[in-house]
Amino acid sequence: ATVPDPVDILAVDDELDPTERDIRDTVRSFAKAELTPYITEWFEAGAMPRDVAKQIGALGLLGMHLEGYGCAGTSATAYGVACRELEAVDSGLRSFVSTQGSLAMYAIHRYGSDEQRQRWLPAMAAGEAIGCFGLTEPDAGSDPSAMRTRARRDGGDWVLDGTKLWITNSPIADVAVVWAQTDPDRGAKGIRGFVVPAGTPGFTVNEVRGKLSLRASATGELVLESVRLPKDAVLPGSGGLSAPLSCLSEARFGIAWGAVGAARACYEAALTYAGQREQFGRPIAGFQLTQRKLAEMAVTVAQASLLAARLGRLKDAGRLDPAHISVGKLANVRTALEVARSARTVLGGNGITLEYPVFRHMVNLETVLTYEGTEEMHTLSIGKAVTGVQAFR
Ligand code: FAD
Repeated sequence: ATVPDPVDILAVDDELDPTERDIRDTVRSFAKAELTPYITEWFEAGAMPRDVAKQIGALGLLGMHLEGYGCAGTSATAYGVACRELEAVDSGLRSFVSTQGSLAMYAIHRYGSDEQRQRWLPAMAAGEAIGCFGLTEPDAGSDPSAMRTRARRDGGDWVLDGTKLWITNSPIADVAVVWAQTDPDRGAKGIRGFVVPAGTPGFTVNEVRGKLSLRASATGELVLESVRLPKDAVLPGSGGLSAPLSCLSEARFGIAWGAVGAARACYEAALTYAGQREQFGRPIAGFQLTQRKLAEMAVTVAQASLLAARLGRLKDAGRLDPAHISVGKLANVRTALEVARSARTVLGGNGITLEYPVFRHMVNLETVLTYEGTEEMHTLSIGKAVTGVQAFR
């Protein structure tokens, strides 16, 4: 028998294939050299430098599980592993990758025309063009079907009016995928996606300031005032809410993996600290109450890893259902927050500073609990899957 690795006590990573393991090691060493040393600075400044997008793109992590158009075409599990390693640094970095690859690029890849794909995907895969995904509005969060943003036909053009809020990457984005209600009376297909380049007249972005969570990720409000777009700005394959929801499913899969990274990082920080910090003449790791916390973190991280691995294999087999994703997103983000809060106590006063990663992860995870479907909405989705009765409307 081999001695268990404290941070992967069940050796769940043995389930990875050699390519997935290579990707893990590559992302881990990139993170150690290029991300971890600067993350506190970016978090305090409230922004990630644009060059980081290019570095992440050069590694092949943007839209990495998509095929063609400069995308790496890896397994879903490999994409999950990359999300995990990035989120072990910061949820904001993983949010950048999720928004770019699983929301904006996936929408164009799955619902776009070949021209739209050619125009945007290679540049986005390289991190040279940054994308965002505008679904949420000030009055339509958990219920996106209540969106007010409208796209109407005017001659051959489309004209968009509306406001989107909480849009990740938008202050630095070159292109926005904007979801709008089209006129149902005129034979339109309901909610459709539009490709809106930055700088289009009438389209402005206001940065959301004063965030206490996910500070290394830029968030903004999109304002669309009579934004005139050509006929071919619509994503031709989109029609109905199922299109944006399918993109969210892609991103939520990455979040279920990413949360394992955040949890693991908090646990590792607590484990190291507990071994070094002495009180009452001995390391605090020697006290039973501290050991209980660390043992529970080890168990929780192992359970979350198993859950993510299971989702990965289901997705790679083409058998992943939205209910599976709800289980993963809900359970792993909730347990990551529990680990972060417990790790925070192990660090005592130091636990509240930016000098250690734990509090930063903890406040980031408050966003992760809310976005991409709140804890409550995923609970109700699982409730519907197991009872057959819909309770959220
Ligand atoms: P609400 O929907 O108003 O919910 C408030 C509370 O009511 C929650 O606890 C919710 O669970 C509860 N609630 C609502 N309905 C029910 C119900 N039927 N039963 C029980 N409880 C209910 N959106 C994008 O489109 N693109 C992005 O890139 C993006 N990035 C984001 C980045 C950040 C930092 C944040 C904070 C949000 C981001 N979002 C983005 C928006 C995010 O998806 C929404 O915040 C989320 O869907 C919740 O919507 P809301 O904030 O309007 O809350």
